[in-house]
Amino acid sequence: MALDPVRDARGAPRYRCICDDCGREDTVAARHGRDGSDGHGQAVSKIQRLGWSYIGKRLRCGTCEAKRKVEKMAARTGQKTPAETAPREPTRVQKREIMDILNEVYDHDRQCYCGGETDDTVAKVLNVMPGWVAGIRDEFFGPGGTNDDMAALGDEIRKFMQDTQARLTAAKLEVESLEAVIGRVSSMSKTLDQIKDAVGPRNLVRVK
Ligand SMILES: [Zn+2]
Repeated sequence: MALDPVRDARGAPRYRCICDDCGREDTVAARHGRDGSDGHGQAVSKIQRLGWSYIGKRLRCGTCEAKRKVEKMAARTGQKTPAETAPREPTRVQKREIMDILNEVYDHDRQCYCGGETDDTVAKVLNVMPGWVAGIRDEFFGPGGTNDDMAALGDEIRKFMQDTQARLTAAKLEVESLEAVIGRVSSMSKTLDQIKDAVGPRNLVRVK
């Protein structure tokens, strides 16, 4: 700690406070006492009022104290999240919690999740790794590939495909029937041409 007992021009006792981080100086009025260090307490409380800090016998000016706080905060938020530092295996308690929630949201009879639940949604609720849920679900419950929502969507897709197939078949029949009609009309047209030729202007003249 850098606290120097000094005196001002008129001889009044002062302490020169030096920032241990950057060397900045400030001066406060404080009695020195007999050996020059008795006034430390008073000097420290005065310099603290000016925004300085005195932590772990280290004196810091306002700027350096603010910097220290920011760095400390950054170090804390830079720490890994629980998921990153989590052990590879769930604890007994976590296993039981996963079992409990699977009992609620997994349909034993139909071998699928209820509603929109998945390994991920269960993991999120318990704040555990989705892989743990998948492992326990596989071992004690059943496959996790589907849930009610997916099944419902699957049904919808199947119905749509059936409807579309039926419409396609109907359209094909319609095309065939139109082709048949066109065939008939074109053969009628040929016959008409033959009749025209037979009763052409030359022959008509002859009739006259
Ligand atoms: Zn400083």
